[in-house]
Amino acid sequence: MNTAKDTEMAIEKIDTLVIGAGQAGVAMSEHLSKLDVPHLVLERNRIAERWRTERWDSLVANGPAWHDRFPGLEFDDVDPDGFAPKERVAAYFEAYAKKFNAPIRTGVEVKKVERNVGRPGFTIETSEGVIEANRVVAATGPFQRPIIPPVAPKDGKITQIHSAEYRNPEQLPKGAVLVIGSGSSGVQIADELQRSGKQVYLSVGPHDRPPRAYRNRDFCWWLGVLGEWDAPAMRPGTEHVTIAVSGARGGHTVDFRSLANQGITLVGMTKSFNNGEVTFQSDLASNIAHGDENYLSLLDAADAYIERNGLDLPEEPEARNILPDPECLTNPILELDLAEAGITSIVWATGFAVDYSWLKVNAFDEKGKPRHQRGVSTEPGVYFVGLPWLSRRGSSFIWGVWHDAKYIADHIATQRKYFSYRDASQRQKTEDLITPRTKHLTDKTTV
Ligand SMILES: Cc1cc2nc3c(=O)[nH]c(=O)nc-3n(C[C@H](O)[C@H](O)[C@H](O)COP(=O)(O)OP(=O)(O)OC[C@H]3O[C@@H](n4cnc5c(N)ncnc54)[C@H](O)[C@@H]3O)c2cc1C
Repeated sequence: MNTAKDTEMAIEKIDTLVIGAGQAGVAMSEHLSKLDVPHLVLERNRIAERWRTERWDSLVANGPAWHDRFPGLEFDDVDPDGFAPKERVAAYFEAYAKKFNAPIRTGVEVKKVERNVGRPGFTIETSEGVIEANRVVAATGPFQRPIIPPVAPKDGKITQIHSAEYRNPEQLPKGAVLVIGSGSSGVQIADELQRSGKQVYLSVGPHDRPPRAYRNRDFCWWLGVLGEWDAPAMRPGTEHVTIAVSGARGGHTVDFRSLANQGITLVGMTKSFNNGEVTFQSDLASNIAHGDENYLSLLDAADAYIERNGLDLPEEPEARNILPDPECLTNPILELDLAEAGITSIVWATGFAVDYSWLKVNAFDEKGKPRHQRGVSTEPGVYFVGLPWLSRRGSSFIWGVWHDAKYIADHIATQRKYFSYRDASQRQKTEDLITPRTKHLTDKTTV
């Protein structure tokens, strides 16, 4: 590993410190290694920990194995059109890191990062001592702190968990369950709970729901060729629109009408909890209509692309058939007595926030959001990688983060070049200092 110990001060020094060894940290390390940037990755748990212990037991990747991977390694034991189980995804990143001997140190948590005063670089407090680095890359994940909205009931009568804590149906008490949130997590968890025999209510907000596949191509392929993964920013007004896709049971299109036919009761966005009663907004029909619109618009774009390029892909007119509206959609429930409905638990699939409380630098706006351009923050030497929309729509996903990490590593290498510049007089001084006896020491300098 390219670290150097300052024995006098017992402070370890490194050029670039990457914090977090999920996919973002592993990708960062690969690109830094390729550019010979001395670096160290600190991970508080294990490589790809979130895939191991912070997601439910039956989770598989939302994208097919041919797509949800880094360019340098395929899943050798998963059908390319199949969906890798979460343990397999974690093993993939572990194997990937081994492939290039990534300098990852696990079981070390970064507690605090502060800029040095009057000298370059940062001082980093970790669970295992202090490190100094010229640069830090925060790769601690797009989904760090589970969000449960303030409307959540406070009375403690109902079991409440966030999707990050959900593991399997057996974990919940007997009785019906209200799943709140209709992104990929909410719909997959609701589906699993209903299939396990539970009565399920699913609170549906604004969502996109691309077809799993259309005309023999997975939606990941369509988003790729249509340039959607590369979209630089969210369309205005879509900040709260989640995406509902599923690789579960071999992969299928998320269809809320079909979930209702299966036995799940759809309700609108959850509005309030009062005296044992939950109320819902009257937006179910419009949220479902928005999802349909999104679904059909992708079919239209795909058809146009096929025609424009004269591709030989089979027609699929039946993909445009929309099921009849179920009763819960035509006559939506607006309020529900929890006890009467037998609801004993709530699963909040309401998303995550980031937490950079440990990063004490000037790289955040007044709302605490990282200020950066493609991951290069406003605080020189501080970088972010893996965040949603860091540079494009694909940024927080497996395939996208690799490309962002490449850009950031390049930026770091360029900065190192500036810092290593010496003018003529400095070069002369250095020459004078390097006697044949000490030359071998400077050859080995890593920082
Ligand atoms: C349920 C779910 C399913 C998903 N499925 C897919 C999918 O199928 N395909 C896809 O492309 N994307 C998927 N994603 C999105 C994304 O790929 C994952 O969220 C992925 O885990 C993000 O990787 P990351 O490396 O950016 O962050 P993380 O995986 O969150 O890794 C960050 C790492 O940093 C460590 N860390 C945090 N703080 C510190 C600290 N202070 N000191 C040291 N270490 C620290 C953590 O332990 C963690 O290991 C999914 C997300 C979720 C929530």
